[in-house]
Amino acid sequence: MNIDQSKIPQATAKRLPLYYRFLKNLHASGKLRVSSAELSEAVKVDSATIRRDFSYFGALGKKGYGYNVNYLLSFFRKTLDQDELTAVTLIGVGNLGTAFLHYNFSKNNNTKIELAFDVDQSKIGTEVGGVSVYHLDELEERLPENVTVAILTVPVGSAQPITDRLIQKGIKGILNFTPARINVPEHIRVHHIDLAVELQSLVYFLKHYPSE
Ligand code: ATP
Repeated sequence: MNIDQSKIPQATAKRLPLYYRFLKNLHASGKLRVSSAELSEAVKVDSATIRRDFSYFGALGKKGYGYNVNYLLSFFRKTLDQDELTAVTLIGVGNLGTAFLHYNFSKNNNTKIELAFDVDQSKIGTEVGGVSVYHLDELEERLPENVTVAILTVPVGSAQPITDRLIQKGIKGILNFTPARINVPEHIRVHHIDLAVELQSLVYFLKHYPSE
């Protein structure tokens, strides 16, 4: 199962966690195989895309048999580094940040928010969802080396300076929930999720591309 991961297209890679979650459920219910049509129905990705995606994983479904659930699962576990825990920090314990701290990410994947930062004195020194909140001034001193990912839920204006400090401290990936388009060096990965834009885009699609 030696797949060259650099050959997996990014669009395919983004669907991996989705497939993984569904296959884990299948496995838990004792299923040994799954067809691309069943998968397609469950994850809402068309079956041609699923077949193409899976061909990158060396998983060739057999006609009338489908895919081997155990094979796929071990592939995903390895590819998504599920045997390795990724430590995460969260900056900005406001409404959104608080929701993330309460949300149990480790239920479905191996990530854990280890610590959080804010500047609001009323939040410093508290625990939210079991995660300690420190002052941002202590970022450099408190952020452990094993933390490689940061979630940004701060006001738009502070996103860039905080990003710069995080990168200086060795953060490799940022999940940016602020509307700011942050600048980062090439080796840093930013995934940008602007909830207001997503909502607006959904409403636009409903209006202009109503399903037949
Ligand atoms: P709240 O109602 O708790 O203020 P909010 O999500 O509406 O939440 P925002 O103004 O978006 O408020 O701020 C989000 C969080 O980011 C707040 O907890 C705020 O204290 C914190 N924050 C603001 N500036 C910074 C900063 N420079 N560094 C870290 N955290 C910050």
